[in-house]
Amino acid sequence: MSFSSLGLPEKLVNALRHNYFLEPYPIQSAVIPPVLEGKDVLGIAQTGSGKTASYVLPVLTLMQSKSPVRDRRLNALVLVPTRELAIQVEKVFKQFGPSLPNKVKSMAVYGGVSINPQMIALLGVNILVATPGRLLDLVKSKAVHIGSIDTLVLDEADKMLNLGFKDEMAAIFKLLPEKRQNLLFSATLSKDLETMNQVLLNDPVVVEIEGKTVDIDKIEQIAYAVTEERRGPFLRYLIKHHDMQQVLVFTSSVRKADGVALKLNNNGIQAAATHGKKNHHARTEALRKFKEGELQVLVATDLLSRGIDIVELPVVINYELPRSPKDYVHRIGRTGRAEANGKAITLLLPEDAHHFQVIQKKMKHQVEILPSDEIDLHGF
Ligand code: AMP
Repeated sequence: MSFSSLGLPEKLVNALRHNYFLEPYPIQSAVIPPVLEGKDVLGIAQTGSGKTASYVLPVLTLMQSKSPVRDRRLNALVLVPTRELAIQVEKVFKQFGPSLPNKVKSMAVYGGVSINPQMIALLGVNILVATPGRLLDLVKSKAVHIGSIDTLVLDEADKMLNLGFKDEMAAIFKLLPEKRQNLLFSATLSKDLETMNQVLLNDPVVVEIEGKTVDIDKIEQIAYAVTEERRGPFLRYLIKHHDMQQVLVFTSSVRKADGVALKLNNNGIQAAATHGKKNHHARTEALRKFKEGELQVLVATDLLSRGIDIVELPVVINYELPRSPKDYVHRIGRTGRAEANGKAITLLLPEDAHHFQVIQKKMKHQVEILPSDEIDLHGF
């Protein structure tokens, strides 16, 4: 199967090749052709499956035959639950859009930052990637009109419902034109989502890609038994001794994330913490630096474990165990993505033993627990 056999224009296929997208992922083979035919699609797939390109590529292609936008009227709207995802998705539009002859202008909008620059920048935008609340604010201030869109995409719809965006979404749906193409992506199919699917989608092509996000078997997992006093020094020992260059460390609380990052910096390891209490600029900057290799360690809370998308992230360290087994899998799924193998290291306090048993049972995978008391941590 090749990208050109899916009906994408040659110029786009070349751009894909330049970006090392050599063959379509299963979700892309299944979703691209019906979207190009103008059909509605319900995609059950998770981050990591390649779902973003599965709609970005055909939406860009369809956009080629549309006339330029007038009066701040969008052609396509992509709704996402978080600003991180908004930025990531818009990046994919920017990555591939310029290869096509008719220029499309895309933009990401989200809350937590000043609205005025967004209002100004919206002029001439065809494709908008937005979080629901901010979109409604922009519509209210007439910075953008969504009444004549051709395509609506809901990405991570389950998360949007979980985060309580139901009312905002309903308000948005009311403003949309009746005739449009709908693409709905979700990791799971909940009851609420079933309802939304029935109201929203018109005889959709249903595509289900199972368990692509985390291939547990591709991740080498180890755990070390540590004591509370030795946990910090042991983390620094791991990073320094194994010369780890790009490490994502997870903590369960904001306070711990800040504390761990501070201690790492005090010990000559470049680290930053990222979590819900940091402002938007700090979060984007930390993630950018980390992705580009300027920052050796990023310390994050679970809030961000779903949004962080770095292909071939070599190591994830659980400084603290997450409460839910699902979060554990999400965390370690940040490594070993796409075709790369990754390593996940968990630091276990004596009191974590039982909870770790539960996690292992839930993910149906046994993790070897090694002792660490013989390792000399002097100087770390
Ligand atoms: P997503 O599930 O959309 O977040 O995509 C997961 C990752 O896979 C992203 O980093 C994409 O850049 C990458 N990716 C998506 N499709 C392909 C492909 N066909 N070939 C290579 N990499 C891809």
